[in-house]
Amino acid sequence: MTDQTPTVPMEKIVSLAQRRGFIFPGSEIYGGLSGCWDYGPLGIELKRNIKQAWWQAMVQNRDDMVGIETSILMARQVWEASGHTERMVDPLVECKNCHLRWKADDLQGTRCPSCSGELTSPRMFNVMFKTFVGPVEDSANMVYLRPETAQGMFVNFDNVIQSIRKKLPFGIAQQGKSFRNEITTGNFIFRSREFEQMEMEYFVKPGTDDDWFNYWVQERLNWFINHGIKREHLGLSEHPKEKLAHYAKRCVDITYLFPHGWAELEGIANRTDYDLKQHSKASGKTLDYYDDETKEHYTPYVIEPAVGVDRSLLAFMCDAYAEEPDKDETRVVMHFHPALSPIKAAILPLSKKENLSAFARDVYKDLRSHLMVQYDDTQSIGRRYRRQDEVGTPYCVTVDFQSLEDKRVTIRDRDSMNQIRIPVAELLKTLTAKLEGEDLFVLPPGGEIWKVEREKKG
Ligand code: ATP
Repeated sequence: MTDQTPTVPMEKIVSLAQRRGFIFPGSEIYGGLSGCWDYGPLGIELKRNIKQAWWQAMVQNRDDMVGIETSILMARQVWEASGHTERMVDPLVECKNCHLRWKADDLQGTRCPSCSGELTSPRMFNVMFKTFVGPVEDSANMVYLRPETAQGMFVNFDNVIQSIRKKLPFGIAQQGKSFRNEITTGNFIFRSREFEQMEMEYFVKPGTDDDWFNYWVQERLNWFINHGIKREHLGLSEHPKEKLAHYAKRCVDITYLFPHGWAELEGIANRTDYDLKQHSKASGKTLDYYDDETKEHYTPYVIEPAVGVDRSLLAFMCDAYAEEPDKDETRVVMHFHPALSPIKAAILPLSKKENLSAFARDVYKDLRSHLMVQYDDTQSIGRRYRRQDEVGTPYCVTVDFQSLEDKRVTIRDRDSMNQIRIPVAELLKTLTAKLEGEDLFVLPPGGEIWKVEREKKG
């Protein structure tokens, strides 16, 4: 990890997110609900694309992985056995004057940071949200909203083994909401009370766990780099032995240079056989593995890469953001990896004249069942390009009067701003190839080399 200054102030990301429909404060018309955020039309596309990219890398492209989706509400015994009831607690102090609560570990001085009032001595506070199952609100019916998705994988270990018959090593992956009543939220969506996680539990034979741990650190680092985050904005941070979580043998964080400084983006933990053994003991159900090659029963060790969807989304937004010279002005452009861009292409007719609109709408309709595309015929073409750059649309397709004659359209590349004219019949194929990173042609400034390149490639 190097000492660098963050590339973009948080205010710019927050303002773009709100202005362009990525992220809004939760319950905003009622003044907002602290630590809760809503995703707008573009934000949800970006979020779905991030989840899809993770699922593709972790589940779809691998033989040694299966996915599941488990309930947010789980039996209370789950959290007792896992140690969360006892340990998912933070020491808090309360101001005797204004009654604000503060995390004892975060305090610099001995007085209330808000009003300088006297503070109580620390008291333990569990960050799991409580609710009730059934109509009677008594302690027997109290349950927690899950603070992590991981336990859903552990309690279903045997169900998965019995139904899928996977051999070790193999992993179970899950994406879903988690809830933590964080004492201090902030830095936009970096730390919220309701958030989404992508977690994977990789079950391995004890003794092979150290190698698998290193493997997963590398894999996860590569995933961020392959999806557009600059290597110099990513770091690795090893947890010192004395700060390891109660279940962990080793833990490495992938850190990112957020606008508020270097901070955890993803945690990779060697959880040993702790969780499976705890649930075996507490439930009375054996959660072990029979190795039919060595004819032994053992409890697997677990390597867990755990990342927040929202926190990754913030990192992807910060890393994509750029302000670049464009003629005499400056353009804001989000250089998202095309797989993550909310909109893949925008169809822009140069005029609203009826015959041109009809042609452009046909182009749009042909594309939209294959790709997330947008039709925009408002304001000048320059402004429309700007709008699409600002939300990270990799390609703009302009339709002009010449298109009616020669059945060709112009593709503008977001990053280079170069343009090329191609037959409309080749549009979907060209865009798909480009979005998948397969460069069918090089985009020269305004040049038309489509045919030449195609012939050369046979
Ligand atoms: P932190 O130290 O930042 O509180 P953690 O070590 O408690 O995080 P884990 O329990 O390892 O986090 O959760 C795995 C991942 O889930 C984190 O790396 C982060 O990306 C995400 N995450 C955890 N808590 C939150 C939160 N309150 N808001 C948003 N994302 C979160």
